[in-house]
This record gives sequence, C-alpha cells and structure tokens, in this order.
Amino acid sequence: MNNHVTVLEIDANAVLHNLNYFKQRLQPDTKILAVVKAFGYGSDAVEIAKIVKDNVDYFAVAYCNEGIALREAGIDTPILVLHPQIQNIPTIVKYRLEPNLYNFKIFEAFLNYASEVPLMNYPIHIKFNTGLNRLGFWHTDVPNIIARLKKSSNVIVQSIFSHLVASEDLNEQEFTINQINNFAYIIKQIYEHLGYEPMIHILNTSGVVHYPQAQFDMVRIGIGLYGFSNTPNETAQLKNTHSLKSIISQIHNIQPGETVGYNRAFVANKPTRSATIPVGHADGISRKLGNKNGFVIVNNQPAPIIGNVCMDMIMVDVTKIDCKEGDEVIIFNHQQHIEYMAHKCETIPYEILTGLSQRIKRLVKH
Ligand SMILES: *Cc1c(COP(=O)(O)O)cnc(C)c1O
Repeated sequence: MNNHVTVLEIDANAVLHNLNYFKQRLQPDTKILAVVKAFGYGSDAVEIAKIVKDNVDYFAVAYCNEGIALREAGIDTPILVLHPQIQNIPTIVKYRLEPNLYNFKIFEAFLNYASEVPLMNYPIHIKFNTGLNRLGFWHTDVPNIIARLKKSSNVIVQSIFSHLVASEDLNEQEFTINQINNFAYIIKQIYEHLGYEPMIHILNTSGVVHYPQAQFDMVRIGIGLYGFSNTPNETAQLKNTHSLKSIISQIHNIQPGETVGYNRAFVANKPTRSATIPVGHADGISRKLGNKNGFVIVNNQPAPIIGNVCMDMIMVDVTKIDCKEGDEVIIFNHQQHIEYMAHKCETIPYEILTGLSQRIKRLVKH
C-alpha cells in the first residue's frame, strides 16, 4: 500500500514520445543531450535517465551532486555538469562527470588538478558566452584557451558550447542569428588552432524548433522532454509527462456568511460545499492560485481553489460537483492546465514543474 496520497505521476511513454518527436526533427547523426537538472524538471532525474538512456548520447545536470545521484543509480552515460565549482573538482573526477569549464579560474584549477593526479585525456567541455552574459568565456579568450590546452595531454575537449538568450522569442530572431554566427566564428578559430575538432552544440528545446540549421553535432533538450516547447503548436505535438494527483480529505457544508481558510479570505454568499485537499504551498502550489485564481479537477469538473492556499492544504469549491471524501483529485494532468497555473502565477511552466517539492511522492507509469 502506498502511504502517500499526493502523487506526481511521471508518464514514461510520454517522455519517450517527446524525445522521439525532437529526434525526428533532427538530422539522423545529431546527438541528443537530455537535460535532467533540478530533479528532471521537478520529476525524478534518475527515473527520467532510466527511461531515455538508451536513446540519448549525453545527460546534463546543473550541479555536481545531481550527477553523483545519477552515477549512484547506475547511469553510465556521459554526464555534463553545467555549473561546477572549483571545490567539486575531485568529486567530479571520482564520479566520471564531465565539467563545463566557463572561466579561467575553474579552467586553470581543473587543468592543474588533471596534471597533478595525473589524468589522461579527461573529457572537459568549454562554454562560450555569446550574449546571455551568465556563464562562459568571451570570444577574445580563444587564443589563451588554445595556448593552455596545447600544453596539456591530461584533458581532451569533448565539446564546445554556448546557450541562446531568446530561442523561444521570434522577435529576437536577429539577435539569435547573430549569436549563432558569432558562435560559429569562435568554433572556426578553435578548429583551426586546436588540432582536433570537439563536438559543438548551442540549441535548447526552442532552439531545435526555431533554428534547426544550428543543430551542429548535438542539441540539449530539457523542457521539451517534459512536454513543453514554448510555442503552442509545438507543445500540442508533445505529451504531458507530469500529472499531480491527490484525494479529497474532507468535505464541509458551509452556510452563507461563513468563511473558509486563513484570514477568512473566502466568504460564502450561498450554501457552499468545500473540499479539503492535502497539497499546499509547501508542495509547490503557489499562494497566487488561491482565491479562485487556480482550480483542480474533481470528477472531470473544474473546482476553483477558494480562500488562501495553506502550507499543506487547499480548499476547493465542489458545490456543483458530485463527489465524496476519498475521491481522486487531479491538481493538473495536462500542459494547458500547467500553462494556466504558470500564467496565474506570473511565471513559466519551468517554474511550476521544478517547484514541486520533494515531499510529493514520485511514481513512474510505464
Ligand atoms: C537548462 C538548460 C538547457 C535546457 O533548456 P530547455 O529550454 O529546457 O530545453 C540547455 N542548455 C543549458 C545550458 C541549460 O542551462
């Protein structure tokens, strides 16, 4: 028996469908890196990795510890750590993780460590900043990077990459194409002087959709795996992967003038039936969804959230819904519902998914 009532179901077939959808749009020899950072966008990184590992070439995580979790679960695929820190270097090597080296400080630290051990041909990745101004070397750093690499046989550059600023926004097409061209120029210089040709990648999910001409050797798919592509037509081709379900714990019949929840935020103006559901803001259901901004589904009908969202509970209006204590509640099970929640919370589906707390039980459906 499962002790948890609030469960996030992960649909393995939907994840595979989404992966194949992008695969079909790419050249047959373009490699795929699956981004499983932040617990696989709020799902379960290890489970997602197990689902897709035979169909992808690489995984990426943000931090070293996320990579360790995959290795400890027996995942053998190469893992790129997008945002490592100097103090992680020995651990990265111990777990055969592959660091993104984004500035001279960590680049030097890694090369020094590699020569002390010594390592032989250890795979590293180098990131260039082409406009995001977040992480990455500048194009002017190329000569110094090459000079330093030429002195080392301890590492091998597995890939050179960059990240688009606004791949989902076609109003920024000119900026994006410029970014891609600048990146291509950096690559040209590196290929001329390094002596070998590392893999190249710049596209995320929306990049694959809008700029397939820039797929180079590999693409990095994150949100697309999880059913979203930042464009309605494309999202419609993808399948929902995250479904959050719970049950009705209790039903109250409330008389006019009575209130529901903290600070009496909902006031009944007619006889009202409210249902209490064991999921709250500590689980990632934003307080912005209270006061009828959000809804859940009970017996196929929308039930608005009334009053304030509590830490561990929400109350919904089920006056017109035939239901009883113990019935199933769908908090969401469709991308449109997640997008609606994101809109009401003034955010994007990425934040709704990654904000689902670890308290919620994850369950994979095959
Ligand atoms: C998170 C991330 C991705 C994935 O982006 P999506 O929009 O989710 O596909 C790709 N590359 C980098 C560098 C990232 O940080």
